[in-house]
Amino acid sequence: MDLKNINFKKSLGQNFLIDKNIVDKIINSAQIDRETLVIEIGPGSGALSKSIASLCGNLICYEIDKSLKTILDEELADFNNVLVKYEDFLNADVLKDIKDYSYKKLIVVANLPYYVTTPIINKLIIDNIMPSLMVLMVQKEVADRFCAKKSSKNYNSLSVFLQYHYDINPLFIVSNNCFIPKPKVDSCVVRFKLKDEKLPVNDINKFYKLIRDSFRFKRKNLKNNLSSYDLDKVNLILSKYGFDLTARAEELDLNIFVDIANNI
Ligand code: SAM
Repeated sequence: MDLKNINFKKSLGQNFLIDKNIVDKIINSAQIDRETLVIEIGPGSGALSKSIASLCGNLICYEIDKSLKTILDEELADFNNVLVKYEDFLNADVLKDIKDYSYKKLIVVANLPYYVTTPIINKLIIDNIMPSLMVLMVQKEVADRFCAKKSSKNYNSLSVFLQYHYDINPLFIVSNNCFIPKPKVDSCVVRFKLKDEKLPVNDINKFYKLIRDSFRFKRKNLKNNLSSYDLDKVNLILSKYGFDLTARAEELDLNIFVDIANNI
């Protein structure tokens, strides 16, 4: 494939993968078989799509840039199990799009556009698409936040939100030399495996709000960040775990947020 004629759009996060070894490593991490329905967000010129299509049952791609249609049609001409939808993934009705397919596993594989990485992952969870596995390439520092453990500098409300639903592991770093055009920073391929058992939460929206509020001001403690909550109750729950209201959100494990959300 000749990428010379492509007018790369920086505003759409277009950094196309040109290293076949990395493509193979991503695909091998995704455990795709004929009973798998794969969603790819941002196929670009089809670097990952072709390998996915050769292994999966069906592949649905969402590509915002209609000008890539000619090259994608050409690259994917040999496959009759691929549907490319030229639309913004953030506006897509994915549950409607997948309902006519029969499959045993729904997975997402993507080299995500860096400017909408978090909204895309949020959508996959909030819209209840909930793939059983996601293998996603993201900027290295974003991957650090997804995987961060408590008391580390990258641990924030996003880490808690994502880790509530998924076991998240960084798989490997990808040098910026593996893309055209070359991005400023390195990337990381991250695996999200849907948890078989999640901690029971009575009201998921209350839980999401609690974690957002708890981390609102990074340097402030829970007494300040949760001042609109019933602080006596919060304190009582914290005391079970050896904390009080002077603790900061980044010191708390996921299960403590769940306990607070369920009991206030
Ligand atoms: N998958 C290709 C690869 O690995 O070479 C391209 C990856 S490139 C980092 C991101 C792709 O996402 C681009 O093709 C871009 O046009 C597309 N994209 C950007 N924003 C999008 C959105 N909101 N919805 C769907 N696709 C989007």
